[in-house]
Amino acid sequence: MIIDKILKANEDFIKAFEPKKMSHLPQKKLCIVTCMDTRLTGFLEPALGIERGDAKIIKNAGNTVVDQDVIRSVAASILTLGVEEVMVIGHTNCGMANVNPEKLKTAMEERGIDPKEIAKVNLKEWIGAIDDEESNVFQTVEQIKNSPFIPEDAPIHGLIIDIESGALKVLVDGS
Ligand SMILES: [Zn+2]
Repeated sequence: MIIDKILKANEDFIKAFEPKKMSHLPQKKLCIVTCMDTRLTGFLEPALGIERGDAKIIKNAGNTVVDQDVIRSVAASILTLGVEEVMVIGHTNCGMANVNPEKLKTAMEERGIDPKEIAKVNLKEWIGAIDDEESNVFQTVEQIKNSPFIPEDAPIHGLIIDIESGALKVLVDGS
């Protein structure tokens, strides 16, 4: 099992690691909403000059807002954790821009998901598939900004990161 390898890695890690006390408050007063893409792990942070303890990072498939969950975390960051600015960061070549609802449906059926449940939802919407990485960033920024639970004076920026080079492009300057 994969978990066995992970637990072994953890044993090695704690042997070498020197713990230190840190605040749970983000030192750079920043909240980031980004994608769960594996290529961003250990890449997004250095590309932004962010280290452990600096920022709240919320990740999901395609940095989308399909329910209240992202809003809840962004609101908590601003209202209780001292966050002053929010950055929605999409990336080029996002897997959520290539979702095939038919393939997803087949995978669900093969893994025993109840066909009645599958039939109840629009799979493209349910999975949060996006049509275009840049327009998706604009949409996510608007959804966060328009939430009644997000303070109106909180800057919500929108950016896209090049998954190959790490270059950032500003799409929405929330200043
Ligand atoms: Zn992605």
